[in-house]
Amino acid sequence: MRDNKWLEQRLDQIWILLFPEVERLNQVNVQFKGRWRNKFGHIKKLKDGNTEIVINAVFKDLRVPDYIIEITLAHELVHYMHGFNSPHLKRYKHPHKGGIVEKEMIRKGFGHLIAKEKEFLKNDWPKIVSNYKKPRIRRISLLDLFRIGRARV
Ligand SMILES: [Zn+2]
Repeated sequence: MRDNKWLEQRLDQIWILLFPEVERLNQVNVQFKGRWRNKFGHIKKLKDGNTEIVINAVFKDLRVPDYIIEITLAHELVHYMHGFNSPHLKRYKHPHKGGIVEKEMIRKGFGHLIAKEKEFLKNDWPKIVSNYKKPRIRRISLLDLFRIGRARV
């Protein structure tokens, strides 16, 4: 099952296997959160000095292949390694400028998966994420509440 425990183990595996030179200088928490169409994850420095990595909760859906989650975790680890939202020395001015994340990912052996990811994004992702559209939020006025109350009687 893809829960936060599973996600933690994935992060640890990727870190040990592919980022062994990147020291874990603070506590790095990872969790599924949010349901976004155009965002797969993010990395954030918390007020207590720890780092939080968030992975799109739609990725719990088993129609999303494991490698999509692995690529996303690796992407956020590259930011950590480059000193964005991490205690490491900041190596660049901007986290994505000049394709620095993709270059690093290719160095780490993710090249073929990046190509597969593009196919997945085009062919499968739109169908999957459309199942998770949030219901429209309607503002309820006092009058509506009154009507709801009356309807119950
Ligand atoms: Zn990024």
